[in-house]
Amino acid sequence: MTTTINFRDKHLETIFTKVQNGERLSLEDGLAMYATNDFISLGKMAHYVQQQKSGDAVYFVLNRKIEPTNICVLSCKFCDFATKKGKPNAYEMTTEEILSKLSDELHEVHITGGMPADWEWERYLNILRDIKKHFPNIDIKAFTAIEIDFFHKKFHLPIEEVLRQLVDVGLRTMPGGGAEVFSERVRRLLFNQKIGAKVWLDIHRTAHKMGIPTNCTLLYGHIETLEERIIHLLKLRELQDETNGFLSFIPLAFQPGDTNIKPRSQYTSAIDDLKTIAISRLMLDNIPHIKAYWVMLTEEVASVALNFGADDMDGTVGEERIAHDAGAISPMKLAKEQIVKIIRDAGKIPVERDIYYNPLNIFSENVIGKIPYLNATPFYNSMEKQQFKILPIAPRRMGELAKKNQIDAGLFSLVDFLQQENSFELLNGCIATRDQVKSVMLFSNFVWEDLQGKKIGITDETATSVQLLKVLLEKKYKVKAQFERMHSGVNDYSKYDAVLLIGDTALQAKHHNYFGYELVFDLAKEWYEWQKLPFVFAVWAMKKNLSGEKKETLKVILQHSMENGEDNLETIGLLHGKAIGLTKEEIVEYLQGFNYHLGEREKEAMKVFKFLMEREREKVVE
Ligand code: SF4
Repeated sequence: MTTTINFRDKHLETIFTKVQNGERLSLEDGLAMYATNDFISLGKMAHYVQQQKSGDAVYFVLNRKIEPTNICVLSCKFCDFATKKGKPNAYEMTTEEILSKLSDELHEVHITGGMPADWEWERYLNILRDIKKHFPNIDIKAFTAIEIDFFHKKFHLPIEEVLRQLVDVGLRTMPGGGAEVFSERVRRLLFNQKIGAKVWLDIHRTAHKMGIPTNCTLLYGHIETLEERIIHLLKLRELQDETNGFLSFIPLAFQPGDTNIKPRSQYTSAIDDLKTIAISRLMLDNIPHIKAYWVMLTEEVASVALNFGADDMDGTVGEERIAHDAGAISPMKLAKEQIVKIIRDAGKIPVERDIYYNPLNIFSENVIGKIPYLNATPFYNSMEKQQFKILPIAPRRMGELAKKNQIDAGLFSLVDFLQQENSFELLNGCIATRDQVKSVMLFSNFVWEDLQGKKIGITDETATSVQLLKVLLEKKYKVKAQFERMHSGVNDYSKYDAVLLIGDTALQAKHHNYFGYELVFDLAKEWYEWQKLPFVFAVWAMKKNLSGEKKETLKVILQHSMENGEDNLETIGLLHGKAIGLTKEEIVEYLQGFNYHLGEREKEAMKVFKFLMEREREKVVE
């Protein structure tokens, strides 16, 4: 994808060249971006990166924020929310009150609050337990690192044990607050009883290693310097390099309220908010999502932010006491329809998501699904979208949305295509292997024959690869294993005898010491040695019920992008491949290992696989 920006600030031009070459931005680059008056170019740079990561998607979640109490043992100077027990405004919610604020349509509850001296550990566990019991479909994001540290100290439990017990009662992810800005100077002045950078980072590192994805934030616009903001971002980027456990970054604009840190009316300017979002998108090249937190930004600024690097609007939220007690000026509740409208008006696809950023529903027409892996770059890198919008989405999720009639066309996982064959028309494009694939891999502590009865963790992203694994195990090796679907994002692989991983994650294996496993099997190679056929992992298809005009357009844009992609295999995946740690030679060799056209041998391979898969299903039914 090429983007031309008419820079007025030559510093930005240099920085953009680095971005386009996949080079890391430095502290100096971050400061130069804050210093620039070429505001529009900065936004365009961030939008370029956002497009690479999220295409036209902007996410939101139907969620509810709950603060079970505002009583807190600490007294942070910037906090207008907390109070002391016995004060007239102090409150402590009962379980019934908490449950009364939830409903079945929600997908996420976000729990943070004060830290009272007299709550027992069981009370926290019971809140989560009761939510899961009454609302099994609501995922729980709860407790910032400072609360986790508080539990650890107050209840004399190691951090791992605190997290383990919370996961057992329903915790899925953690919010990102608690450290505000990683600066000892600011910490001493504003919240000297709170944890500093090291403890915050250690707690998130521990969570990631235990398979708990988390989020991260920056509280800006109080007494911090611009340099302190950038250093904060660099520290987050460093931890993400190590663990890959952050889902999103949320810049939080400081609300002065009655904190006496700044005059009540001195909110951060819209320019500062938008610059911070854009700079965050550019500096945090390894964090998937940047949130425009509308509760604090206002609807108007959040809407512009969607073209300045942000790809998430957060959610419907409900009450949000910490921000509102400090005087946030946004309405308390932005209905789903309004969020959808704001996203549409920004020219994007509104995507309702779950806590892990899996798309649940999309609210747009003319959508092409894009498998966001390196091997799909030859199809999408130079795609002229015409009237279509592009939604990057894991193969299994694309199949689910297609079933709901929410995707017009895309590169579908083979199994999803076969299951919906009657409503799809094949196009001439596929991801087929010649002999090996290198990115659909079983990492195992056992050879195939010894996997009988063993527990295999399977990635949440795939439909076809799981079926291929089952066929190989049961037909080729005559063994039956147990399968457990893992969640999206980081997982604790040590729980499994083997794990099936696909796409970029599998390609990065050597950088992660093969996830601790001794053996690595390439599923396409296993298939080839057995059947002497290629394996077709994905096929291009479009909905049969599209208009003739749309179908023609799709055929033309696919053909053009494929021609361009195949002619430029040496360069087309460079940026993507570099971002996941591959060398130029590795990228080219990998991309040249595929056949992108659906020929007779590929069609024969599809038939054989379909036959084996259906035989397997029939046997299960018998
Ligand atoms: S910011 Fe959090 S820890 Fe600090 S006083 Fe407020 S509620 Fe307590």
